Formats: sequence, structure tokens, C-alpha cells
Amino acid sequence: MGGPATAGGTTAGQQQWAGRQQWSGAGEPAAPGRALCWGAVTEQLCLLSVHAHPDDESSKGAPTVAKYHSEGVRCVLVCCTGGEEGDILNPAMDRPDVADNLTEIRARELERASRVIGYDEVVMLGYRDSGMPGSPANQDPASFARAPLEEVTERLVEVIRRTKPHVMVVYPAHQSTYPHPDHVRVHEVGLAAFLAAGDAEVFPAAGPPWRPLKLYYTLRSSKRWLAWAEKLKEIGRELPWDDERLEMIAKAPHEQVTTEVEVGAWAHVRQEALRAHETQVDPKSSFWFGLPPEVEAELGQVDEYHLAFDRCGSALPEDDLFAAIREKAAL
Ligand SMILES: [Zn+2]
Repeated sequence: MGGPATAGGTTAGQQQWAGRQQWSGAGEPAAPGRALCWGAVTEQLCLLSVHAHPDDESSKGAPTVAKYHSEGVRCVLVCCTGGEEGDILNPAMDRPDVADNLTEIRARELERASRVIGYDEVVMLGYRDSGMPGSPANQDPASFARAPLEEVTERLVEVIRRTKPHVMVVYPAHQSTYPHPDHVRVHEVGLAAFLAAGDAEVFPAAGPPWRPLKLYYTLRSSKRWLAWAEKLKEIGRELPWDDERLEMIAKAPHEQVTTEVEVGAWAHVRQEALRAHETQVDPKSSFWFGLPPEVEAELGQVDEYHLAFDRCGSALPEDDLFAAIREKAAL
């Protein structure tokens, strides 16, 4: 995977980028009907998901990816870090030989999980895990959260321009219940790269411009979390949260759910992929595996998303990440 390239001098693209900081987070509104080059959507549809650590691709939106992969959509995963700071959370794997080789082991776990989910390509962005907020790893210069925004954005833009996704999925702005620095960074970098990739004047060395059509935030609404907790109690399983945590989840702000993807037959993929991360996931954990699949199905088999940017005028609410793209491109 290697460490991130050092910022060796300022390229022309970075200078232009510097003048465009006002884009980040606000710039282009979600404007239906913007002029588009529909001719670009003539080949296989492509979905690009950006995640922070190995195992995030399994816990967030894995059934959605499995579903689209089965329908012939090319699915690309960008994993920003190697997860070097992850604790061994499965007692059966808490051994010195595992701890000493955690980076390599997590890379193999990611490979297995990606095959279970159906990713066609996995790109390691090459940064180091920044650790939980306040931990010494935050200060490591190789860490994802410390790398300059321009440098990381250019790296992601390069992947976008090469793989040509029509839809991108990143993390939401609201992450108050789990403010891991790398997760916060995925939001910032994902948004910046989505906006920059289609602009030929920005990062010219990163390849010819490509404009992804929609940007989504993967999320889980408080309503769904609370329904899940209620169900756990109902079947007599131990709830991994106290009342204080439950109240925090209930009050946590999150983006509006604009899109519910029915994952049906693919719902089981989440737990299956999580099991591939055997250092990170305790198979006895009620958090990950407390609800048997048939009980979980009673809560509705959907993955939730917020449509943050839309360059093709999809009508909301929607149930397909490719809504409006599929129809207009007749794919
Ligand atoms: Zn993570």
C-alpha cells in the first residue's frame, strides 16, 4: 500500500485549486436539469464508494453494492487507509502474531470482504489510519487526516477520472455519534473530489476530466437505529448501548433520507462481509449479529442514502442510486 506521496512542490493544478477553496462544502447546488453530456453514459454503469478503513465497506452499504454488482454495474471501492490503528475486537484473534501483522491481515480481510460484496476493483489510497480522536496516531504525518486536503483530493480525482463513475457514495457531514477523524476526512475529500473531477483546469496531471452525475452520503437514520435497538430488546438480546447513548442517537442530527434502496435478497451480505473482518468483528457481538436475518428483515431491508448533489434532476424520494441516470441514458 505504501505511504502517501510527500507534497513535493506546488503543481499548477494545486495553485488553481487553492483559488477554489470556496467550493468545499457549499459550491454547486443540487440543481435539476443542469446541462449534461448524456453521451458520456454509453457504457456500463459505474458506482464508486469511498470508505475510511477496511471493514467500513462491509458495515455501510454492502448490500447495495452487492445488488448493483449482480445487475452488471461496475463497483469500485476506494479505501483511504490500511486500518493500522484498529484494535483487535475479536477475543479469538487477540494473539501476538496477529497484533504484529495487523496491517497485512487487515488487507487480506478487506480482499475477502470485497469478494463477498462484489467489488470489481479495490483501490488503496495509501494513507495511514489516523486513530480515534485524541490518540497519538492523530499526529503521524502519514495519517489520512493530516495529509493536505489538496493532495488527497488530487489522488481521489485521479481515481475518479480513471474509473469514470456515474454515482459516488461518501460519508455524510453529520457524524457526531462517531467522529473518527478519517471518517470526517472521507466526507471532506469525497465532496471536494466530486466537484473537482469534472473541471479540466483543476489537477490537470490527474487525467482528463470526468463528471460523476450524483453524489450520495451513506447514512443510517436515528429512526432505524432506534427500531433496531427496540427489536434487540424484544427478542431478549443484550443491547450494546446504555440509555444515554440511545438518547444521543435519537437526537443526533443527520441528513434527510432521500433514497431507500431495497436490498432484499442481498441484505445478508452485510453480516457475511463483516465476518471476513475477523480481527475487527466479534462473531458473538450483538451489535453486529444480534438480530438473526429473518428478524432483521422485519425492520425493512433497505439501505438509506442522502442525495447531496444531483446533476441529472432525479425526482425525490427515490429508490435507486441510478434513478434519472438509467432512464435518460436508456441503460
Ligand atoms: Zn472506519
